[in-house]
Amino acid sequence: MLFRRAREARDGIFPKLVEVRSVIEYANICRQECNYCGMSRYSGLKRYILSNEEVLRTPNLSIGTDAGSLCSKQESFFARDYFENLCLLLKRIKDAHKDLTLICSFGNLSRREFKRLKQSGVERYLLKFETSDADLYKKIKPSDTLRNRVAHILMAQEAGFQVSPGISPASRARPSIVLQTTCCL
Ligand code: SF4
Repeated sequence: MLFRRAREARDGIFPKLVEVRSVIEYANICRQECNYCGMSRYSGLKRYILSNEEVLRTPNLSIGTDAGSLCSKQESFFARDYFENLCLLLKRIKDAHKDLTLICSFGNLSRREFKRLKQSGVERYLLKFETSDADLYKKIKPSDTLRNRVAHILMAQEAGFQVSPGISPASRARPSIVLQTTCCL
C-alpha cells in the first residue's frame, strides 16, 4: 500500500517523466582491481552470489517499479553453465513482469554473452567508461584499459542494448580534464 501511494503521488506530479528503479545486487565478486572500489579482486571482502530462489523472492520484483536492475560485480568471470543459468533466470523474471525494463550490469562480457543476455529479455546494459583519459583510466583501473572498455561498450550496443556508458565519480581526481575529454567522445 505504501508503494502504491508513493507511485500515485509521483505520477500525479511527474507523469511518465520519472523512472523508478529497483536494484538487486546479485553478487559481489569481481576480477577487476579498481583502486577506488571495496569490491576489487584483492580487497578481502566476504563474497556472495544470490541463489535463483533468493533473487525471485526479493521484494524488489514486486514493488511496481518501472525498471529493475540486476547488478553483479563478476566482470567476465562467468562459467558457461553459470551464465546460462543467469540468462534463464532473467527470462523467467521478464516473463513474469512484462512491463518491467530489465537493466543489467555484469562488466565486460564477450560478444556471445552480450547476445545471449539480450535474448533473455534484458533491454539495457550499464557499462561505464569511467573516464575518457586513458592514462587516468589505467591509474584507477589497472586491470583494464580504456580501449578495451570502449570496445565492450560498442559490443553491447551492437548486441542491441541501450547502453549507459557514464563516467565514474572515481575520476573526479582530475575533473576539468575528464569533462573536457568526455565531451570529445
Ligand atoms: S569493475 Fe566495478 S565492482 Fe569491479 S572493482 Fe571495478 S568498480 Fe569495483
